[in-house]
Amino acid sequence: MTRERYDAVVVGAGPNGLAAAITLARRGRSVLVLETAATAGGAVKTEELTLPGFRHDVFSSVYPAAVASPVFGDMPLERHGLRWVHPPVAMAHPMPEGRAVALYPDLDRTAANLDELAPGDGRAWRGLVGPYVEHFDAVRRTMMAGFPPVEGPLRVLGAFGLGGALEFARLVLLPAQALAAELPFGEHATAWLYGSAMHGDVAVDAAGSAVAAVYLNLLGHVVGWPSPEGGAAALTDALVGYLAEVGGQVRTGARVDRVVTARGRVAGVALDGGDCIRANVAVCDVTPHTLLRLAGDALPPAYRARLARYRYGPHTLKVDWALTGPVPWTAPEAREAGTVHVGGPARELARAAVQVRFGEVPDRPFSLFGQQSLADPTRAPAGRHTAWAYTRVPHGVDWGRESDRHVARVEAQVERFAPGFCDRILARHVLTPPAIEARNAGLPGGDVGTGSYALDQLVFRPVPGLSPYRTPVAGLYIGSAAAFPGGAVHGIPGRAAARVALAESALRRW
Ligand SMILES: Cc1cc2nc3c(=O)[nH]c(=O)nc-3n(C[C@H](O)[C@H](O)[C@H](O)COP(=O)(O)OP(=O)(O)OC[C@H]3O[C@@H](n4cnc5c(N)ncnc54)[C@H](O)[C@@H]3O)c2cc1C
Repeated sequence: MTRERYDAVVVGAGPNGLAAAITLARRGRSVLVLETAATAGGAVKTEELTLPGFRHDVFSSVYPAAVASPVFGDMPLERHGLRWVHPPVAMAHPMPEGRAVALYPDLDRTAANLDELAPGDGRAWRGLVGPYVEHFDAVRRTMMAGFPPVEGPLRVLGAFGLGGALEFARLVLLPAQALAAELPFGEHATAWLYGSAMHGDVAVDAAGSAVAAVYLNLLGHVVGWPSPEGGAAALTDALVGYLAEVGGQVRTGARVDRVVTARGRVAGVALDGGDCIRANVAVCDVTPHTLLRLAGDALPPAYRARLARYRYGPHTLKVDWALTGPVPWTAPEAREAGTVHVGGPARELARAAVQVRFGEVPDRPFSLFGQQSLADPTRAPAGRHTAWAYTRVPHGVDWGRESDRHVARVEAQVERFAPGFCDRILARHVLTPPAIEARNAGLPGGDVGTGSYALDQLVFRPVPGLSPYRTPVAGLYIGSAAAFPGGAVHGIPGRAAARVALAESALRRW
């Protein structure tokens, strides 16, 4: 038993845990972040997964939400070595006949590309997002805020008036399929919209999928879809560096086994191996089910039942490749893109998603494909390239048997739009859903969202409450991607949880 004592401990050094720790440390609290893995970062890491000199992002890689994040925007991360690399095309969506729809940073160029493929589509896109580009801050404060989002909607009202604000509220509820039909979008633009909607797990015909796609593509115009120079780990290093500057510490290889409570409030945490660290505040960057395990009987039964019913999204299979050269996409737009949505026409994307939802492994999977080395030569030896992809897969698959077959399907899809891709593969590294979860308990089955974004769970995340970050145990908070507003690398739930902790401790002192 150690006698170490801190004002606060943070369980988990993912981007949300680090954001929480920085928030607490900046307000003068002594903070220790405890991380079970050998390195900090959670799902923000870079390793030479295939061959020496090829730097692959182990999980996440493309960070529009991080660049737009009001949390990270408030930190001097560039001073700690972070440099964003912007590809000339944020995202491209190739179609079977050899053209691709591109998301350019420039809205006019994107609209021209859309109009070229189907006259009128560009005008429709500009008409929809032009006002949101102009009043981006109001939209961002609505989409990227802790719960309940109050200031953002008021700014939306101020920027667009009552009619415009209600239109925005309608967009939040709209399915992507309905939006594509009413714009109306042609086949290429619909596929392009669906691809962005499918970053989340909400079906394109379900409420909430339109705004996910529109916001992601809007971010492409306003902040881009960049990655850190040298790899995702540079973002983690910058967060850890800044945390140290403001007085916080990270301890890796330290798995928290349980939250220790006394008289209904947090007294500290116990680590594997028996050491205890004392603190009156514990902010947990963990899943609801891990929180259940950590806090156990200290949580009242009704709250336990609410945590237990929390649902995860589809599982994920990830592949990284070392390549002899760039990916030979037929579509020129895809050859310049940082991210390529691989899956083709809208109906094929929707079919793959339905297959996943109903427990079938898709025969033509949709994947999010990154080619980070195109814009960032530090990722691979001279002349060589890296590629990164993940694809949604159903629960309950025997990956011992299915892994090779599914990687072949993913590669066949890339080959369809980039003939000759497979000939350029020097080495590949595969993470199946259980392998992702084994590397990071915060990603059950590799679920990229740490929980389904179905509308009920998006709003009440992880449980209904005026502050979803606080728990019934005084001093215990949840601030992971499982809390509002959810996944992606932006640090909002972490900071929101830390702010509630600070407010409650101020109230207690008063
Ligand atoms: C394959 C994949 C690709 C993705 N791509 C993108 C992308 O390109 N862009 C994007 O914005 N987002 C992406 N995401 C999502 C994004 O990475 C996550 O939403 C984000 O990392 C969540 O941050 P977090 O801090 O909540 O959790 P995590 O990053 O999962 O960190 C949680 C940390 O807590 C630690 N932990 C858990 N339990 C304990 C314990 N008992 N004791 C100590 N430590 C513990 C874990 O080891 C982990 O380090 C991707 C996710 C995956 C899986």
